[in-house]
Amino acid sequence: MILRLDRIGTELPPPSDPDPDGAGVVQELLGGKFGEMSTFMNYTFQSFNFRNKAGARPFYDLIASIAAEELGHVELVAMTIGNMLTGSSPTDDGAAPEAGLRDLKGTRNPQHFAAGGLGALCQDSRGLPWTGDNVFSSGDLIEDLTHNYFLETGARSGKLRVYEAVEHPAARALTGYLLVRGGVHQVAYARALENLTGADMSKLFPSPRVPTDKIPECQPFLERGEHTKIYRMSPDDYNEISAVFNGTHPETGDELQVVDGPPEGAEPPDPPLAAGRVRAGLRAGGDRRDRQPAEGQGRTGLGRLGDRTPARRRRRGSCTEARRRPRARGGRDGELVPAVRARRRRIRLRRSVWRAARRRLASARRGRPARSEAGARPRAPAWRARRGPRQAVRHIPGSSRPSSSGRPSTRSSDSRDS
Ligand code: MN
Ligand code: MN
Repeated sequence: MILRLDRIGTELPPPSDPDPDGAGVVQELLGGKFGEMSTFMNYTFQSFNFRNKAGARPFYDLIASIAAEELGHVELVAMTIGNMLTGSSPTDDGAAPEAGLRDLKGTRNPQHFAAGGLGALCQDSRGLPWTGDNVFSSGDLIEDLTHNYFLETGARSGKLRVYEAVEHPAARALTGYLLVRGGVHQVAYARALENLTGADMSKLFPSPRVPTDKIPECQPFLERGEHTKIYRMSPDDYNEISAVFNGTHPETGDELQVVDGPPEGAEPPDPPLAAGRVRAGLRAGGDRRDRQPAEGQGRTGLGRLGDRTPARRRRRGSCTEARRRPRARGGRDGELVPAVRARRRRIRLRRSVWRAARRRLASARRGRPARSEAGARPRAPAWRARRGPRQAVRHIPGSSRPSSSGRPSTRSSDSRDS
């Protein structure tokens, strides 16, 4: 089972200038082949499928614990994307909610606002959904660990590229943190392989290869020793990680350590409602139509949704009264507001269309044509309409019998022309 904490791995800066294009790039870290969905699901399935745990407990504990941390990384990337999209559809600029999303039309991933409610999607930076094909769980511990080592290596390259491509402070804070954590996972899988086979992975593939000491956003995490810690993500279980994860860090020489329990993390952000969501009934303040209430019509933040409750309608008094144009604004006594008149006309029209449809349906059920169709003459086939009214059948000289009724033959129409 998985225990869940309402904390995120590291603190994100408060939303600043929105960056919808950058958010599209950061999607690669969520649903890309080397993204957090991939690391999370790879280690999770490997732990589900792990056989003979009793014989290789420390490796199982390591993979299972890192899997749990990776789910937290998925969460952190998703919240970073939400942070970067916050403010890209302001609810208080007068355009929202009618046109609050218009500035986003040309951005990298239209699904962020067309379907995602300004939140992260389970997709890569091309907008393609993450797929289970990205999971490698072979049942062979050495193959799985080698794959994981390579996966962490690729994941860090991806993070570095996103770091270089996106300047948004939330994206930088995210990549700064993930680069450091990915480095520990790289070291952990290298150490695990070394334990199993004696191979020195860091000589085969010098790692971590990412100069975290030169990246400003990595510094706070290096200072806190985040590059040396594997978290045992459970209150009581996965106790044998230190049998695999021990010794010194290959780059810094710092002592590697297994920390009991999850990292302290930070309070998850609570981004404000976006314009695209306001339409769904969760109004932030009421829409334009609500801004200038007609006489006697009190509007509330709940907008029309709230007005529909019978109690509220009763309190407000007669609907029709409120919709009559006041004499002060040039209205005759009892004259309806033009918009109300137009609406009533539409309703009348709709009603008549429905009545006709119901009539047709009822006659069809009774098995005879509807009244409007019963009286009408049967329509002539299209070919007859082109050729004019049907000619009387007449005997054509030379033929043994009169041309058959129904379709006039070519010859009969020839004779008609002549
Ligand atoms: Mn990760
Ligand atoms: Mn990782």
